[in-house]
Amino acid sequence: NTFQDLGLNDDLLRAITDIGFISPSDVQAKAIPILLEKDTDLVALAQTGTGKTAAFGFPMLQKINTDSRTTQGLILSPTRELCLQITNELKNYGKYCKGFNVAAIYGGASISEQAREVKRGAQIIVATPGRMKDMINRRMVDISKIEYAVLDEADEMLNMGFYEDITDILSHSPEDKNTWLFSATMPKEVSNIAKKFMHSPVEITV
Ligand code: AMP
Repeated sequence: NTFQDLGLNDDLLRAITDIGFISPSDVQAKAIPILLEKDTDLVALAQTGTGKTAAFGFPMLQKINTDSRTTQGLILSPTRELCLQITNELKNYGKYCKGFNVAAIYGGASISEQAREVKRGAQIIVATPGRMKDMINRRMVDISKIEYAVLDEADEMLNMGFYEDITDILSHSPEDKNTWLFSATMPKEVSNIAKKFMHSPVEITV
């Protein structure tokens, strides 16, 4: 079981070699082939520390068009720390993907600086819900053309009271995008959000 077997391209395989990952983790082995091969929604029950950032990050990096400067992917995460961590991982994974730009959007830092980062042509935005909603309302970001949305640590985001913000954000995105939801637990609130926003998702558990 190798990363090559999962169907990842040479730009990603080179980065994986540099980083030193030897073989895919369980969630990566299960999620990556599905996300690469199918235009599908996905619900993944996975704890933190299982390698889930790469499980959604590699397929998203492979599927976006880096010749375009349009925002094509949005990753929502509960905290500023996680947002920065995911952003740094994506930069590292995508270091050989020519033209790739990622922007981090989170509260407690300069909004105009973050707007500039988006304007540079970020194909992927990693965001916390509150600041993301704010920047959409101020028309500093446009997610009307995204093809992929990730709800990372969905249970945490809902625990923190982000239901309204998530609903509001997703209402500005296309109906036909693919949504990939990752959660450590599956309480009713999470399955409700999956029912509301997703279309017959493939389900995986690790
Ligand atoms: P995550 O669950 O995405 O927060 O990842 C947890 C940690 O595992 C991170 O430090 C990753 O760099 C690392 N990691 C992710 N995938 C692999 C892999 N296939 N082999 C070894 N380490 C990995």
